[in-house]
Amino acid sequence: MKAIHSLSEFHQWSINDREGFWGEQASLIYWNKPFTKVLDYSRPPFARWFVGGETNLCYNCIDRHLATQADKPALIHVSTETNSERILSFRELHKEVMRMAAIMQQLGVSRGDRVLLYMPMIPEAAIAMYACARIGAIHSVVFGGFAALSLASRIEDAAPKLIISADAGSRGGKVVPYKPALDEAIERSEHKPAHVLMVDRKLTPFARVEGRDVDYAALRLQHINAEVPVTWLESNEVSYTLYTSGTTGKPKGVQRDVGGYAVALAASMKYIYCGKPGETYFSSSDIGWVVGHSYIIYGPLLAGMATLMYEGLPICPDAGILWQLVERFKVTVMFSAPTAIRVLKKQDPAWLTKYDTSSLRALFLAGEPLDEPTARWISEGLGRPIIDNYWQTETGWPILTVAHGIEKTPRKFGSPGMPMYGYDVRLLDIETGEEVGTNQKGVVAIVPPLPPGCLQTVWGDDKRFVSTYFTAVPGKQVYSTFDWGIRDDDGYTFILGRTDDVINVAGHRLGTREIEESVSSHAAVAECAVVGMADQLKGQVAVAFAVLRDASRGESKAQREALEKDILALVDKQLGAVARPARVHIVGALPKTRSGKVLRRAIQALCEGRDPGDLTTIEDPQVLRLIAASLQG
Ligand code: ATP
Ligand code: MG
Repeated sequence: MKAIHSLSEFHQWSINDREGFWGEQASLIYWNKPFTKVLDYSRPPFARWFVGGETNLCYNCIDRHLATQADKPALIHVSTETNSERILSFRELHKEVMRMAAIMQQLGVSRGDRVLLYMPMIPEAAIAMYACARIGAIHSVVFGGFAALSLASRIEDAAPKLIISADAGSRGGKVVPYKPALDEAIERSEHKPAHVLMVDRKLTPFARVEGRDVDYAALRLQHINAEVPVTWLESNEVSYTLYTSGTTGKPKGVQRDVGGYAVALAASMKYIYCGKPGETYFSSSDIGWVVGHSYIIYGPLLAGMATLMYEGLPICPDAGILWQLVERFKVTVMFSAPTAIRVLKKQDPAWLTKYDTSSLRALFLAGEPLDEPTARWISEGLGRPIIDNYWQTETGWPILTVAHGIEKTPRKFGSPGMPMYGYDVRLLDIETGEEVGTNQKGVVAIVPPLPPGCLQTVWGDDKRFVSTYFTAVPGKQVYSTFDWGIRDDDGYTFILGRTDDVINVAGHRLGTREIEESVSSHAAVAECAVVGMADQLKGQVAVAFAVLRDASRGESKAQREALEKDILALVDKQLGAVARPARVHIVGALPKTRSGKVLRRAIQALCEGRDPGDLTTIEDPQVLRLIAASLQG
């Protein structure tokens, strides 16, 4: 390995000599058969990594560690919903995965077949994902909170031979039955799976469809001594498909490879997350999202770490639960989302110091812009380093962050950091396609080929892959992230919001993020959303929706009016009158996707009296109704 100590040098190497760079990173994983070519880019923008190489994700996550740490924890499962806990060593996990793989094979699943998972956060979900990887089946995990309609469209798109599910999930102590939604979804879908494998948690009774539905516990007993060898896969075979969050519209089915993904994750564990074998990684995400795939299931185990999988809310039984888990399991690397931190912000900050979190080297946050006030609040309250990282379902691992495994670059609140190795990131003018200068706003774009780990294509739709991602910037075949950014003099990039969310007030282009940052710097505000609303005079005006840290401060009309005035004065002072929202609505909650992202497009539609569009990924439709009411009142 070259001796490199600066991130910029490391980055340059990765761009100027892609094959040399990734060829070296490839040694972070085990190859059953070496690749013959690092990169095949003969059909742009489709990139094929580690051509001809044979490997397996399950082998690299589990089997590979059996020789050195078979009895160390691999999967730690904690549920505050069912008050249960289970710790599986690498050896035990290996056995369970082989049992699950044997069941899948018995049910007719083989290499290349799709297996759809509609599951709560239970160990069997992780075991099923590793089992798919082991036998070369393609998993397609659908977030367990989705309703029948969203699930049906994903069943139809993935066309799975097998669906694995459970009787129920549980949220805040409330049992959420899964089977009725699943049965309805299969009913609605044209594609029918041959079998449904049911994990019975005994939370709620459910109906079984004769011949189709089979019971996991019973089949597991039949395969108690199963030995299922690893199926070696060519690096470019498909490991999984996963849908984007659907924040901006219809979700896209991201398709991922095997070898490139394994190498990219192993490299990120070394250079970005800095996790070591024998330590514990805790990601509070859900396996239904990309963070769950990359940093609950695959990344930590690739690095020989234990992964902590948590079923429960961040405030149940109390707002100290996440930190209690950090203390108990001596978590060294943690991953969460700004939306979870904003939930904690409404609670007593004393919870942040009640437990010993000194084992934690860093808390990584991703998924939405991390506003400076929230970053400061958690960083000061917890006293541990906070690292923002910016990426997408499509990329599978961070595009912008800092890489403390290479260089201890200082962080700046409000910015995720700089382009990661492998990503040739440019900020481009959306109209001309030209690169913008420092301190000027542009679309965050990546010059292809995309690095290993990124999507190969859109599942079943190469055309959509090219037309969605590679034609957004005129005159250039570059990958568009559909996010807006700005780079400062020190090379730090700030994400300003999505390209759809840009507001044009009397000819001034404003990112909603900038105004949100300002509104949320008001001490009474926990979180907020800003959207553009059509205006006859100015083209568009900004409208803000703010949720208070202490709801009782906005109970009366007079209180709300006083707060609105206060917030408007703050925006005036920080950004100038052009950014001043026409209104600041004090609301009880913001409409979010199931993955915790603010649905600005739906709020905007309400403001403009339009239909809010595709709401299949919304967390709680009631919130939108309350906002509509507050717009009328
Ligand atoms: P869809 O593409 O279906 O509309 P989505 O973009 O919300 O949904 P994800 O892939 O889950 O789906 O989210 C990626 C997006 O989340 C990024 O493009 C960006 O807008 C936002 N994001 C993620 N991390 C950060 C971050 N650290 N800072 C700012 N924005 C972030
Ligand atoms: Mg997106």
